Amino acid sequence: MINRQLHLVSRPPAEPTVDNFRLVEAALPALQDGQVLVRHHYMSLDPYMRGRMSEAKSYATPQPLNAVMQGGTVGVVEQSRHPAFAAGDSVVGMGGWQEWGVVDATQPGVLRKVDTRQVPLSAYLGAVGMPGVTAWYGLNKIIEPQAGETVFVSAASGAVGAVVGQLAKARGCRVVGVAGGPEKCRYVTEELGFDACLDHRAYADPATLGAALAQACPQGIDGNFENVGGIVLDAVLGQMNPFGRVAVCGLIAGYSGAPVAISNPRPILTMRLKLQGFIVSEHMDVWPQALKELGEGVAAGRIRIRESIAQGLEAAPEAFIGLLKGRNFGKQLVKLV
Ligand code: NDP
Repeated sequence: MINRQLHLVSRPPAEPTVDNFRLVEAALPALQDGQVLVRHHYMSLDPYMRGRMSEAKSYATPQPLNAVMQGGTVGVVEQSRHPAFAAGDSVVGMGGWQEWGVVDATQPGVLRKVDTRQVPLSAYLGAVGMPGVTAWYGLNKIIEPQAGETVFVSAASGAVGAVVGQLAKARGCRVVGVAGGPEKCRYVTEELGFDACLDHRAYADPATLGAALAQACPQGIDGNFENVGGIVLDAVLGQMNPFGRVAVCGLIAGYSGAPVAISNPRPILTMRLKLQGFIVSEHMDVWPQALKELGEGVAAGRIRIRESIAQGLEAAPEAFIGLLKGRNFGKQLVKLV
């Protein structure tokens, strides 16, 4: 059987292009003992993949060239030679950008069965998966919001940001976000329940965005969930309250090389701020608790989800490039089946 795959074949010096990827057809090997054959239904596209395409020093090793792009997948077991998995099981794993995955299930944690009776399969790549746990961790473990505090989140309509805002609202906070464009902002307030959302594209510099933020956050900002960097972070720092917490989750504005300088670090000192970066995969101890809460929230409709779905493996490079530019609206997926 033929397995279609996307390989990374070159490293982009700045913004990625479709030429950085190549479609490859490979024969599926026969299953060995302990292995499971998974038909991928959805692939996850995530901003961290841009970092892996580069050889710059980071927390993870680069994605190798001429190999399948790494990434999260959900799918259904087609054949199993491992006792814990059977044909028909829905599973989440790191199958990469390919239509099928042959997984050595003897390695702990590489493949996890999921229950799709109340949570759709695709959500295990979003709100009930890595992005959801990221939101949960940064909010609960770094920002630690108290009822009545103001929490700010950038990329508010995205996979992580949408969950941050909804969890913070449930904790009794005032929640304000930024998103790219009026349609995303309307969704963030009307559907996700944020108190306010600003369109960052409407502001050319930190001063004008800061003035609008001051209006949207009349009590200042106690917790900032930072997904973007650049003028957004710069503007938010100026509105932080004493002893505010900044969870540095992502700096997507700079992933393709644009500067994300902080022009005025003074509030870090004068407001005695805590800024802490984190990588969700280094906190596996919280995943079970977080996934349970997130799964229950999605099943009950308390956590709303939205997805951008590209169709077919070939669509992945273009959709990934779009994700880095904000063309996605909600969790970006590629549907394969
Ligand atoms: P999203 O679904 O939020 O998609 C990315 C969004 O980033 C775009 O839709 C766009 O939203 C926004 N964006 C891109 N460029 C800019 C810019 N220059 N200025 C402002 N906004 C911009 O992605 P995720 O929810 O998956 O990820 C959000 C962040 O979380 C990323 O930075 C990612 O790297 C980080 N992350 C970190 C993890 C960790 O362990 N630390 C784990 C998972 C994610 P808009 O159009 O609204 O501007």
